[in-house]
Amino acid sequence: MPETVKLHPKIDGGVKPTDPSFAGGVLVCLCQSRPVKVRVKGQIAHNHACGCTKCWKPDGAVLSVVAVASHENVEVLENGDKLKIVDASALIQRHACVECGVHMYGPVEREHAFKGLDFIHPERFQESGWAAPGFAAFVSSVIEAGVDPGRMDGIRGRLRELKLEPYDCLSPGLMDYVATWAAKRSGALKG
Ligand SMILES: [Zn+2]
Ligand SMILES: [Zn+2]
Repeated sequence: MPETVKLHPKIDGGVKPTDPSFAGGVLVCLCQSRPVKVRVKGQIAHNHACGCTKCWKPDGAVLSVVAVASHENVEVLENGDKLKIVDASALIQRHACVECGVHMYGPVEREHAFKGLDFIHPERFQESGWAAPGFAAFVSSVIEAGVDPGRMDGIRGRLRELKLEPYDCLSPGLMDYVATWAAKRSGALKG
């Protein structure tokens, strides 16, 4: 019997569809006592599975699930004193709970196509209905986290079954978006 490919508890059973009426919610870390709570207003965007080694993943998961929200729609509600920036030199300023390790929000403040966006992990919403993940990014990077390269066909095959097209960078749409921003900045593209 082939080994079941487990990727992430929120996608292994099939991707839950987006609820068009979802209007935001509260992200809660894993702490039993004094959990960090972060409010996100409105629906999230660009939700995807990510194989990079920087994103927070739940125990045992191969991939993370990560999305963005506008920075002005993200607000720390409770116990923000437990948050610490994981790597201040990184593009994404991931604010993690120092007790349980969950990354609660990660703003991009540097000049970049993603400036003004905060990266969040929608699985930490208390509420359901958040936008479903649409693709898988940086899939080859799971090897850097210790996944046997021999498992990659199975992992990519399972992602395609889940309708999460696997890419080894961002999706073509997001790569084009980043390149367009850079081209406008350099003057290679006008307007
Ligand atoms: Zn915590
Ligand atoms: Zn990532």
